[in-house]
Amino acid sequence: MRLLLDAMCGGLRAPLRMCGHDTAYALDRDVEADDRLLALAREEERTLITRDRELARCGRCNGRLEGVGREDSDGERPAYVPETADPVWRCRDCGQRFWRGSHWADVRERLPDGQ
Ligand SMILES: [Zn+2]
Repeated sequence: MRLLLDAMCGGLRAPLRMCGHDTAYALDRDVEADDRLLALAREEERTLITRDRELARCGRCNGRLEGVGREDSDGERPAYVPETADPVWRCRDCGQRFWRGSHWADVRERLPDGQ
């Protein structure tokens, strides 16, 4: 897996590299601006790992996500989205919805402090 970590995720470099992932770190490349970060991810065909919600990428198609809250602006809510899901994000490209599911606490426990 080819990954690109943004400046806020530097603590993941060593664990990801030890797991065998080809992991680049934005600050090692002198890249901090969002547009340069996205361009680098595209140029090198890397999945961007970020805590910046403005840069969040869809796990299905790698598109950008936007927050839609409990209801989309048109009042649409796909049946697969639990009623309790809040907030909800929607991929601008494929329309897939995302929310903090039951795995969220487990993922947070596995990340280094401050990540
Ligand atoms: Zn998508």
